[in-house]
Amino acid sequence: MQSNLSKPFSYETLPSCGLVAYFSMEIAINRGMPTYSGGLGMLAGDTLRSAADLGVPLAAFSLVHRKGYFQQHLNGSGEQSEEVQPWNPADFCTEEAARVTVSVEDRPVTVRAWRYDLHGRSGHVVPIYLLDTDVEGNSGWDRGLTDHLYGGDTNYRLQQEIVLGMGGARMAAALGLDANVYHMNEGHAALLTLALLESQIGGGPVGQVLDSDIEQVRKKCVFTTHTPVPAGHDRFSTEQAIRILGGDRTARLEKLKCFEDGLLNMTLLALRFSRYANGVAMQHGKVSRAMFPEFKIDSITNGVHAPTWVAEPVQQMLDMHIPSWRRDNLYLRNAIDLPEQEIIDAHRRAKEGLFTEVATRTGLVLNPGVLTLGFARRAATYKRASLLFTDPERLLKIATEAGGLQILYAGKAHPQDLPGKALIHNVIETAGKLSNDMLRIVYLENYAWDLGALLTAGVDVWVNTPRRPYEASGTSGMKAALNGVPSLSILDGWWIEGCIEGFTGWAIEDGADDAEEADSLYEKLEKAVVPLYLSAPEKWARMMRTTLAFNGSFFNTNRMVKQYTRNAYYPVKLLDQLKGKEESPQVVSAHQQVLVG
Ligand SMILES: *Cc1c(COP(=O)(O)O)cnc(C)c1O
Repeated sequence: MQSNLSKPFSYETLPSCGLVAYFSMEIAINRGMPTYSGGLGMLAGDTLRSAADLGVPLAAFSLVHRKGYFQQHLNGSGEQSEEVQPWNPADFCTEEAARVTVSVEDRPVTVRAWRYDLHGRSGHVVPIYLLDTDVEGNSGWDRGLTDHLYGGDTNYRLQQEIVLGMGGARMAAALGLDANVYHMNEGHAALLTLALLESQIGGGPVGQVLDSDIEQVRKKCVFTTHTPVPAGHDRFSTEQAIRILGGDRTARLEKLKCFEDGLLNMTLLALRFSRYANGVAMQHGKVSRAMFPEFKIDSITNGVHAPTWVAEPVQQMLDMHIPSWRRDNLYLRNAIDLPEQEIIDAHRRAKEGLFTEVATRTGLVLNPGVLTLGFARRAATYKRASLLFTDPERLLKIATEAGGLQILYAGKAHPQDLPGKALIHNVIETAGKLSNDMLRIVYLENYAWDLGALLTAGVDVWVNTPRRPYEASGTSGMKAALNGVPSLSILDGWWIEGCIEGFTGWAIEDGADDAEEADSLYEKLEKAVVPLYLSAPEKWARMMRTTLAFNGSFFNTNRMVKQYTRNAYYPVKLLDQLKGKEESPQVVSAHQQVLVG
C-alpha cells in the first residue's frame, strides 16, 4: 500500500506552513543564564539549537526565572546548601513592548517578554521569549511569580503554569506570531490549551464549548510527555484549581475530563487537547501507553546537540576526517573509519582537560593513565548513585586489579528533596571512607552545563544505574557517546536502544533487586570493562570508535528534530491541508490518521 510517509519532504516548504510555538518550563539557552535545572531544560535547549541549525520556523516560550536555578555548595561532611543565582535579562535579551494579562486567583497579572535570539549555524534565528511578571502595577507577590524555577509550593507552581501556558499563548498572539503548531514540552505548559480554547470561542472562562471548538484546538497541539510514573505528573487539587484558576475554568476542565482521582492532571489535559503525543524513548512510549491506554502515544527518542557536547579535541579530529558532521550528524556513522591513535590522543586531551578542572576545584591531582568512571546527574533516589558502593570490598578489589580506579560524581538535589540530599551525603561519606591509593572517589560541586560537558567527554566509562522504569530517556550517556565514551548502564530509557554489548558499552543485567543489579554491575566491571581497559589501547579505541559511529550518529537532536518535524509538527496530511490540497482518503495510512486525528 502506498503510504504518505514515502513522499519526498523538503524543509523549504515549511515557512509557508507557519510557525511552531514551543513551550517549556525550563530551557538551557546560554551557559551564562541559569534558566534550567537539568535534563528537561537541556533537552529543550538542544532541541532549539538544532531547530535553528535546520532552519525550522520555531519560536519558544519559557519563564525568565530571575533568581536562577540554585548554585550548589557542599560542606566537608557532604551537606548541600543552596544559593540563588540572580541574573539580569537585559544583559542577554531584548525587552518586547507587548504586554498581556492573565488571571491568577481572580487578579489580573501583567506579563511581559524578553527575547533571546538563538542563531543557527547558517544564520536562521529561533527567538526565545522569556515571560516575566516583574512588571510595575503587579503586586509584590505577582512580581515574584517568574523568579524561581521549581521553587515554592504547588500553589506557586500552578500560578507559574498559568503564566507559562496562558500567558505564553497570549504573548504569541500579541507578538503577531502566527503559530500553526503549539508544542508542549512536558505537562507544565498544558494550560496553553485553555487559552487557545478561550480564544477559539471568542472570550474568557464562560461560554459554550462545542466539540468542533475542541477539534480546532487539537489540530494545533502536540505534546511530549517525559514522566514514566504516575507520581511524576503535575497534579493539583480541585480546591487549588478553583481558587487559582477560577471556578468557571475548573468546571470546564472537569467537564472535559482532565481530572483523575479528584486531581487536575496536566498530562491528561495535554493529552486531551493534542492531535499528536509522544514519549521520549521507544520504551518510554510503551510505558506511557500503558499509563494512558485511552490515548495514542508515539515515541521519538531524545538526542543531544552534537556541536554543543563534543569536546574541542574530538571536534578537531572530526573536522579533519568528517568535515560535514556538524551540518548533518548522520555522517558521524563514518567515524567507524577513524584511526585508533587519533581517538586515543583526542580522548587523552579531553581527559586531561577534565582533570585540570578537578585540580582547580578541589586541589586533587588525578592520574590520566587510570581507568575513570563518571556518574553525574540529578541526585534523585531512583538514580541510585550509591549502587556502586553496595559491596565496598569488591569495589576495592576491582580497583586493585585495574591498577587503580577513579570515580567522579556530581549532581544537585532539589532543595526540598531530603532523600536526594541524604543520598549526596551518603556518597560523599562513603567516598571518604573508601578512598585509598588504588581507589579515588571525588564528588564535584555544582553540576551544570560546563561541568557536564567536561565530565561526559573526559571520563572513560559513563555509568548510569536508574531503577527501571523511572528513566524516561536520559541524555548524559548520549553526550558521552558523541565523545566516543561508552556507557555501563541499566537497560532503561535510551540505553535499551543504544546498547550493543561490547561495541557501544555494556548492559547491567536486570535483577530482582538492588543487590542483584549491583552484582551485575561489578561483574561487568570485572569481566568486561577492566580487562578491555588493560588490554592494548587500540582495542579500547575501537570500542570508542563504534560508540561514536553507532550512537553519535543517531542520539542527537539533528535527527530528533527532523523526526518531530516529520511526525509531529507537519505530517504530510497536515501539510496538504495547509496548502489547501484535497487528498483521497485511501492514500492516508492508518498510522497517519492516528497522528493527525
Ligand atoms: C545532560 C544533562 C542532564 C541530563 O542527564 P541525564 O542523563 O538525563 O541524567 C542533567 N543536567 C545537566 C547539567 C546535563 O548537562
